[in-house]
Amino acid sequence: MLSLGLEDKVVLVTGGSRGIGAATVNLLKDLGAKVAYTSRNGNDYQNGALAIKADVRDAAAVEEVAQKVEEKLGPVYGIVANAGITKDNFYPKLSLEDWDSLIDVNLKGVNHTIRPFISGMYERGEGSIVCISSISGERGNAGQTNYAATKAAVIGLVKSLARESSRYGVRANVVAPGFIETDMTKAIPEKVKDKITAEIPVRRFGQPEDIAWAAAFLLSPVASKYVTGEVLRVNGAHHT
Ligand code: NAP
Repeated sequence: MLSLGLEDKVVLVTGGSRGIGAATVNLLKDLGAKVAYTSRNGNDYQNGALAIKADVRDAAAVEEVAQKVEEKLGPVYGIVANAGITKDNFYPKLSLEDWDSLIDVNLKGVNHTIRPFISGMYERGEGSIVCISSISGERGNAGQTNYAATKAAVIGLVKSLARESSRYGVRANVVAPGFIETDMTKAIPEKVKDKITAEIPVRRFGQPEDIAWAAAFLLSPVASKYVTGEVLRVNGAHHT
C-alpha cells in the first residue's frame, strides 16, 4: 500500500479551528500524523488533535506552543503556517492600523511560527515547512494592497529559507490558494463573488480540502522530497 509517509509525524497547523486550517488538521489526522493546532480560541484535545489557544502575533506564546507540542507529541516534523486575516479596503481608505494588523498576523505570525522549530529540525536533519500565501500575493488584488503585500512577503521568506535550509534536510514551500469557500470569503458581497467566479476558468470557488491536499503533498517526505522553495498554486486556473 502506498502512503504519503506522514504516519506518526508531528505536524503543527496554525489557525486550525476553521476553514483551510481545519480541513488540513482533519486530512493530516486521516493520513496518520500526530497533529497540533492553534487558534485564538480552543485549548484542549479536540477530535484527536491537540488544540492550543495561542495568538500568532505573540512570539512568546508561540514559543510556549512549541514546548507544549514537543512535550505532548514529540519533535515537530512539519509546520503549516496558515493563520491569516484580511482587512480589505481601497488604498486611500486603509488606515495604518489596517496595515499593521495584517503585518502582525500574516507576516510576523509566520516568522513567530517557524522560529521556535527551525534549529531542532536542522539538528534532526528533517522537516517540512508549508506557508499559506494567496493568489493575491502573486498577482495583486484591488482592495487588498495590505493583504497582498504580506502574502508576497511570505513567498520571499520561504524562497530564502528554502535556500538556507536545504543543506540541513529541511524543505520550505508555499501553497497559494485562489478563492476558497471559508469564513474569510463569506464576507465578499454576492455581486463581487459572481464577478470573481466568472473570472475563474472552473467557474467556482475551491474547497478547503483542495488546499489541505496540497499542504499534505508538500509535507510528505515521500511525494515531495525534491520540492523546495516552490509556490504551488491551487486556484482552478485563475492564474496570475
Ligand atoms: P478563516 O476561515 O478565516 O480561518 C482563519 C483561521 O486563522 C482561524 O482558525 C482563526 O482562528 C485563525 N487565526 C486568525 N487570526 C489568528 C491569530 N492572530 N492567531 C492565531 N490564529 C489566528 O480563513 P481561511 O480562509 O481558512 O484562511 C486560511 C489561510 O489561507 C489564511 O492565511 C488566508 O490568508 C489564506 N487564504 C485564504 C483564501 C480564501 O479564499 N479563503 C485564499 C487565499 C489564501 P481564531 O479566529 O479562533 O483565532
